Amino acid sequence: MSAPGDQDSREFKRWIPHDDDESAERRQEFDRLSAQPDVIDFLRGFYQRVDEALAEYQPRCTNRGHCCNFARAGHRLFVTPIEVAAFRRAYADRWLSAEPAAGRCPWQVDGVCTAREFRPLGCRVYFCDPQAQAWQNEFYEARLRELKQFMADQGIQYRYEEWLSALSVFSTAASGSRHPGPAAGSLRPAAIDPSGSSTIQLTVVNNLPARPA
Ligand code: SF4
Repeated sequence: MSAPGDQDSREFKRWIPHDDDESAERRQEFDRLSAQPDVIDFLRGFYQRVDEALAEYQPRCTNRGHCCNFARAGHRLFVTPIEVAAFRRAYADRWLSAEPAAGRCPWQVDGVCTAREFRPLGCRVYFCDPQAQAWQNEFYEARLRELKQFMADQGIQYRYEEWLSALSVFSTAASGSRHPGPAAGSLRPAAIDPSGSSTIQLTVVNNLPARPA
């Protein structure tokens, strides 16, 4: 995978979507979902099935958490609201503040994910192992359709949200602090992809190739 250059890093830091009102709204939604036992039970079973199916491909992980440093790796992680909700419920008692501008997931410590049980779908499916390129997009799309179907069945609005921005609402909404936000006059990249287009479980920033080389 190509390392992003300076320009890519700047673009990443500019991508800070939530103001206080949005953060409060998103947090309310995540809290509401995390209080629903059906959501948590579904995701626990869903992740287990995903892991079992993945095991058949025998993908290799050799980068020791490089992919969790999104700014450095040049991609972003997108998730659904129920994944954020389940993650929050599972780890609320040892919560780590996420800062979108930092560009890395705080749950990765010394090359290891410290939140493995409820890490999102994208974290499970993404491997920079070249052998994984042949199957992981299709695999991911199929599982994302499952998540969407569950959400539709439950009457939950589908969104596709950037991971660090989603996590950060638990810090900003609670403290009332403001993100710095995009520079005046700059474009404000969308935080949410409601279209459902999802070839981007780990979307690439700017012009980096969509798949790791
Ligand atoms: S939840 Fe775990 S696997 Fe996913 S980005 Fe964070 S540290 Fe990496």
